[in-house]
Amino acid sequence: MRIPFLRPSLPRAEELAPYLRRMDAAGIYSNYGPLARELEAELLRRRFGGQGAVTTVANATLGLMLAISAVKRPGRRWAILPSFTFAAGPLAVMWCGLQPYFVDVTRDAWTLDEAALDAALAELGDDVAVVMPGATFGTAMDLSGYERRRAAGLPVVVDAAPAMGAGDDGRQFGTGFAGAVVYSLHATKPFGIGEGGLVYSADAELISRIRRDANFGFNAERMAETPGLNAKLSEYGAAVGLAMLETFAQRRAERRRVARGYAQRFAASGLAQRGWQAQAPAADCPQFWPLLAPRGRSNAAVIAALAQAGIECRRYFAPACHQQPAFAAAGRGPLPVTEDLAARVLSLPFWEAMTDAEMDAVLEALIRWG
Ligand SMILES: *Cc1c(COP(=O)(O)O)cnc(C)c1O
Repeated sequence: MRIPFLRPSLPRAEELAPYLRRMDAAGIYSNYGPLARELEAELLRRRFGGQGAVTTVANATLGLMLAISAVKRPGRRWAILPSFTFAAGPLAVMWCGLQPYFVDVTRDAWTLDEAALDAALAELGDDVAVVMPGATFGTAMDLSGYERRRAAGLPVVVDAAPAMGAGDDGRQFGTGFAGAVVYSLHATKPFGIGEGGLVYSADAELISRIRRDANFGFNAERMAETPGLNAKLSEYGAAVGLAMLETFAQRRAERRRVARGYAQRFAASGLAQRGWQAQAPAADCPQFWPLLAPRGRSNAAVIAALAQAGIECRRYFAPACHQQPAFAAAGRGPLPVTEDLAARVLSLPFWEAMTDAEMDAVLEALIRWG
């Protein structure tokens, strides 16, 4: 049995047709048209219980750039963020003219270590422009410490790219947070529309600034007022999003079913006794199903062995960002947990509608070749 890493599941052509016909009738294809506005209103109402404000963006990387540039303290040099994350985070930082400063993650949740963050803040003093924790693999991390720091004057952007769907309806992860929370709607994320993103904040004024900046920084007279860019979601993307909303509840349940299926099989497999560690982050709408190879066994070797058996695994987030050439000049604190994770982490094949037989095959291969 050949098992790919994932099978993106987006709305089918038939499900899109009603929205595409509405688009044709309106003759509007972008610029926060009726479909984008409806998607924003519906996501805000259903997922965030109507509390705060959102704006759609063309992808989460642009959303991060816009959010960082909207909140950063001017004239400062550093953006503090985990190295155990996707390259988009530190790349967005650099596009905003800042230097990434990498801080370690916790061993239990794989999210930014707040004690290490405080050590970095003490070290960098007044030269920190923004802090950007990440909701690793969709984990609904505790934001209370960040809300406190934000209220005390330290700007916070949350990279919640994989976390649309985390938390129940009306209590989406991020709800009520007054910094910026950025979600990706990429095809590989739980709420996949192809390319797209959403920026949320409890602070509606912050969202209106980000929305202006995503439209060339235009003011009401269409004069560029700030160094904006074009990050608008097209009506085509919004159509996919509206169709996605119709089935999102089932999709979230599907992801939980597959995650449970893996957890049960892993518990029964004996792999834990051999030094394997099941995923640390507890996501209720998981993007992936990550786990750690035993110490001394590299993820790259495991992935190569499983590929021989026709099973495609990946290693997010390895190499860690500080190990990638674009970030060679970044600052960093001690990163022992990040380096351990980068050597051992791998993600098993994961998609909605994955069958029991497919999960069995993955676990059998892991037991045999892992
Ligand atoms: C997917 C992802 C991004 C990038 O999202 P895009 O919409 O593809 O730009 C950023 N950060 C993390 C942690 C991600 O998983």
